Amino acid sequence: MGGVAWRVGSKVQRWGWENCLRGFSSAAIPSQMESVGFIGLGNMGAHMARNLVMAGYKVSVHDINESAMKKFSDDGIPTKQSPLELSKSSDVIITMLPSSAHVLDVYNGRNGLLGDGGRVGPWLYIDSSTVDPQTSRKISMDILRCNLKEKKGYVKKLMILDAPVSGGVPAAEAGTLTFMVGGLEEAYLAAKPILLAMGKKLIYCGGAGNGSAAKICNNMAMAISMLGVSEAFALGQNLGIKASTLSNIFNCSSARCWSSDTYNPVPGIMAGVPSSRNYDGGFTSKLMAKDLDLAMASASGVGFKCPMGSEALEIYRKLCDGGCEFKDFSCAFRHYYTGRDEE
Ligand code: NAD
Repeated sequence: MGGVAWRVGSKVQRWGWENCLRGFSSAAIPSQMESVGFIGLGNMGAHMARNLVMAGYKVSVHDINESAMKKFSDDGIPTKQSPLELSKSSDVIITMLPSSAHVLDVYNGRNGLLGDGGRVGPWLYIDSSTVDPQTSRKISMDILRCNLKEKKGYVKKLMILDAPVSGGVPAAEAGTLTFMVGGLEEAYLAAKPILLAMGKKLIYCGGAGNGSAAKICNNMAMAISMLGVSEAFALGQNLGIKASTLSNIFNCSSARCWSSDTYNPVPGIMAGVPSSRNYDGGFTSKLMAKDLDLAMASASGVGFKCPMGSEALEIYRKLCDGGCEFKDFSCAFRHYYTGRDEE
């Protein structure tokens, strides 16, 4: 079979030559953002970095997990032992890390991106991790206090964006992520080509931290709506109505939402969603609890009460404590509401 192949986890990805020729359009890549340093090669980041390679960027990578790096070095993609080392050969840095503490460590820790006395090589920084807006604003301030090691004619000042994503692992793999972007608008405009190599929809949300704020609001609404439809389906079963009947009604009525018409939590209603495979794959309850935790901490930071969000957080904490932390978050239907599979 012709083309290029690489491994992601246990899967082998393949691109035919036709796609390769279309994908490697490096002539279209602005030279000032040709070299990309990517940090965080997990479920999401590994696919995002691969998509940048396929789009023709010169990608180097770093992860604390050696086996995640080996999959890249085996394919001839340069790997670096620290964020600082990676930054020495990069114009642009992208981070895709689990949470705020990891992001702060990669920026400010020992051998971190800012570990060279406030003098940096890359001019554009994009953090796509889901973190709280306060963390995004802190690293933005940290970056803006730094100076470029070498003057670059095309850059007047360092730029940083918070650009968390929606779409999950399948969209990361397909390059169809949605990016919610916070930071200076000129930085957003400069970063567009690189973001579009990993996603298909970009939404500019305003100043630093606003992308992160948008992401945690989105995920809080998603958690509440998933729990809402799960509760209603389980009540329906207890009142003698089949979940398939209720789904048909919801999907053409006022209760219609993504959790009912696209990601239905009741096993046996929809194919290809986590509920159809014992809630494996998808967006874990652990990550949902993390995002709700961020939303609640941010709400309390501005003195705003979120009763539904805080109840959702309690439910997801219970699910995690009860052994469902690695199950998709739609498992609340079965494991919190004790809903039944559709026959
Ligand atoms: P993951 O845990 O699979 O990957 C994180 C990677 O970061 C790992 O390879 C880990 O080794 C690496 N890492 C951790 N600390 C590091 C450090 N100090 N230096 C270098 N590398 C380090 O996580 P993921 O599922 O890829 O998610 C990444 C981010 O994207 C999270 O913030 C998550 O909330 C968000 N997100 C995930 C999904 C999803 O469906 N998985 C969807 C949208 C957003």
